[in-house]
Amino acid sequence: MNFTETLHSNPIFEVIARQAAALDVRAYVIGGFVRDLILKRPSKDIDIVCIGSGIDLAEAVGRELKVPVIVFKNFGTAMLPAHADQTTYTEATETVPGSRSLGWEVEFVGARKESYRSDSRKPLVENGTLEDDQNRRDFTINAMGISLNESDFGQLLDPFGGLDDLRRKTIRTPLEPKITFSDDPLRMMRAIRFASQLGFDIEPDTFDAIIEMKDRLAIVSRERITDELNKIILSAKPSYGFKLLYHAGLLDLIFPELLALKGVETIEGKGHKDNFYHTLQVLDNVAERSDDLWLRWAALLHDIAKPATKRFDPKVGWTFHGHEDLGAKQVPGIFRQMKLPLNEKMRFVKKLVRLHLRPIALVKEQITDSALRRLLIEAGDDLEALMNLCRADITSKNYDRVKKHLANFDKVERKLRELDERDKLRNFQPVITGELIMEAFGLKPSKEVGLIKVAIREAILEGTVVNTLEAAIPFMIEEGRKMGLEPVKELPIQADQSVSHDSSSPESPQ
Ligand code: ATP
Ligand code: MG
Repeated sequence: MNFTETLHSNPIFEVIARQAAALDVRAYVIGGFVRDLILKRPSKDIDIVCIGSGIDLAEAVGRELKVPVIVFKNFGTAMLPAHADQTTYTEATETVPGSRSLGWEVEFVGARKESYRSDSRKPLVENGTLEDDQNRRDFTINAMGISLNESDFGQLLDPFGGLDDLRRKTIRTPLEPKITFSDDPLRMMRAIRFASQLGFDIEPDTFDAIIEMKDRLAIVSRERITDELNKIILSAKPSYGFKLLYHAGLLDLIFPELLALKGVETIEGKGHKDNFYHTLQVLDNVAERSDDLWLRWAALLHDIAKPATKRFDPKVGWTFHGHEDLGAKQVPGIFRQMKLPLNEKMRFVKKLVRLHLRPIALVKEQITDSALRRLLIEAGDDLEALMNLCRADITSKNYDRVKKHLANFDKVERKLRELDERDKLRNFQPVITGELIMEAFGLKPSKEVGLIKVAIREAILEGTVVNTLEAAIPFMIEEGRKMGLEPVKELPIQADQSVSHDSSSPESPQ
């Protein structure tokens, strides 16, 4: 196979070839870029290996192209960032300035030979040949190179049959798989991640070696494991990756809470569904609708507290009462363990887990405006995401049943939209604040203030009081009187004054 034409279509390769020739070193495009080129997949970064100093070659290319070069002396690597302003890297020892943006991230490394110790993923490194460098790569499909040298420019260098493995859709290690995985156990996660991303099989000897070496994952940092897990979650059919993780024995090590969902218990002839496979189906369903990693995490975790809340009731069968609330409470602990961010992304997942039954409950019950209003207000801007999750959560094998449920869902969604347009309730704040209540009745912070506030909020949600000062102040006075309170001052109930009291609220009369 010859890639001369492809290489000519991106001018960066000619520059690298020219500078390598000037430095008298041989250079090759290698790894993921070559794989993705053959698969016609888009790729973001280019890896260059040269027989000599990767740093010197990077600096020469950077000078010719007038782009910055970031040098990692400790690693013997250098890179040209995709964007000129993207030059802060914690491990970088030096940045050679340049002003242009390349649009591609290009990494340069000298060919190396690696040897490993048993207690660390960090190898001992020495200079090596191209073959040494290809030997240290994780999979045959990631070990292919394309020459940038004059004598064989564009030639594919494929010592392990990577091209055949691409055609056969197979993940296979170039050397003995047990050694490959023992040397760097992260590769076990990578094998399953690539299988899931590309829809490939893992060659049986390679997969058996993962099963055998699974405990070696203990020396890999949680962050790296989670990076790979997120890539599995982001693949087109993530259930495939999770099933591989399960069969390899890795899921139990990295995500036991998910595995705890597996299995069906039967009492008096009544079984419940297998919540592990159900969860994976929900994840696949969400993946068909959305690329959002956090929505996908919400799908993975939506039933996570089912094992802890499972009960058998002789009358109704299996119940999981409160699994949505308990599940929401378990989200931060799981995020912490996985080294996922403990920020608004986590709060989003938590909220979706907590609310995931609400729209379904609406389908089953008589739909009241008040129930719809409460859901609108609680879901706020995440309503669409919540509805996506809920639709994905309908996983009956019975096609007619799924269709019927989804049709009911359409109805709920339509009503929500109508109500939202009418009442403008998202990001709802009652016009009457605690301060206003205290001022009106001459109260200090106290139980009464809270009670009046809740009563007003409830009345607004029930639709008996409109969320304006004109409507809510008389109601507040009435509620106060029920507790024996009298207003101590004239209250602002004109529309113009109401604006000054709560100008931030979208419900304020204009
Ligand atoms: P992507 O960028 O889509 O994640 P990639 O194959 O480019 O896929 P990178 O992590 O960017 O993956 O690594 C680039 C190349 O470096 C790989 O194609 C592979 O040849 C090699 N490589 C990366 N990580 C390892 C590893 N842990 N063990 C062996 N080789 C690796
Ligand atoms: Mg890459």
